[in-house]
Amino acid sequence: MSQPAAGRGYDLILKGGRVLDERNGVDGLLDVAIKAGKIAAVGASLPPGGCTVVDVRGAIVAPGLIDIHTHVYDKATSLSVDPSFIARRSAMTTMVDAGSAGAGNYDGFRDYVINRSPYRILAFLNISFPGIFGFDKGVSIGEARLREMLPVDRCVAKIEANRDHIVGVKVRIGGPVTGDLGLGALEIALEAAEAVGLPLMTHIGTAPPTYGDVVSMLRPGDILTHCFRPDPNSALGSDRKMLNEVLAARERGVLFDIAHGMGAFGYDTTEQALQEGFKPDLISSDVHVIAIEGPAFDLLHTMSKLLNCGLSLPEVIGMSTNRPALAMRRPELGHLGIGAPADISVLRQVESDYNFEDVVGEKRQGATLLQPVAVYLGGKEMEIGRRPFEEPFIVGEQGHYNRVAAQ
Ligand SMILES: [Zn+2]
Repeated sequence: MSQPAAGRGYDLILKGGRVLDERNGVDGLLDVAIKAGKIAAVGASLPPGGCTVVDVRGAIVAPGLIDIHTHVYDKATSLSVDPSFIARRSAMTTMVDAGSAGAGNYDGFRDYVINRSPYRILAFLNISFPGIFGFDKGVSIGEARLREMLPVDRCVAKIEANRDHIVGVKVRIGGPVTGDLGLGALEIALEAAEAVGLPLMTHIGTAPPTYGDVVSMLRPGDILTHCFRPDPNSALGSDRKMLNEVLAARERGVLFDIAHGMGAFGYDTTEQALQEGFKPDLISSDVHVIAIEGPAFDLLHTMSKLLNCGLSLPEVIGMSTNRPALAMRRPELGHLGIGAPADISVLRQVESDYNFEDVVGEKRQGATLLQPVAVYLGGKEMEIGRRPFEEPFIVGEQGHYNRVAAQ
């Protein structure tokens, strides 16, 4: 916590919310002050000095949410969705694209999407030269089946020229995506990641190769995405316990990411993992054209699902703010320390008997939902979107958040 420098006015104070900032060890009813697009102070009863004050009592004030696994090369890749649409719906500020683009088409992603979006968009570059090119409803053509499609030199050169937005290498491994090449595709992707000194995000799909073989090859700081996928080829062995290879990978610092999507979140796996005390490191949606209307929907919904599985609110927020920022080595993001960009997600946790569903149709009655209230990106208030499955909240006339009847 910190106090303002004397005599410096703020632009805005968010007053009295529950501030959750894992990086700085903050969990309390506090004010957050913004000045010139940055966090200026966090503390109790900050002096307003004539600046705009928004009463956020009853709400959660978190660092700007980061979805570390999205697909937002909108309109140029068939699986991608509109980044603004999902940002509004989840009150988030940063989206990380997980390999929609490869070296062959990254420039279009940068020029037509990243540089034109008001949101922060970062990317894992696919080791596959064309990126994920054959993924849509009823279409699934693997992009990592042929060595000729995975040129390490092209991937490395594209990353070297675009380190401002590229945070790592992505590869999809498993079943028809890699075909006969199997673990060979993972070796190639690791070679590229090693060459640029960045993390590798690895998708785990159906076998072959097995979950155990894939996770055993990952290095400290690499990310295994879709970590709690259902059987077959889940993190559970035939004894229904977490695989030894998974425990060993965590021990050496491999990160485990939810990446819900259309096929990668199973209650069986998740509940067993949590029962063994194995929590995910990162929560992400893997939102794409087939997941956006459920069962993943978006980051906030995926966070709600994990909250209802028994993770605490501070954990869920940390896994969607602080930890993804550190995983992609962007320590300036994901926290509310003085001088950080004023990326702030204001959320509300409400009671709800929402009926959640995993990717194989298993249902669980929930008790609570997270909802978007407001979002600030570099200090600028952004729009909040309507959600298809719940009623929205908006800021009321007195600055309190009032429930608005669905129309
Ligand atoms: Zn994905």
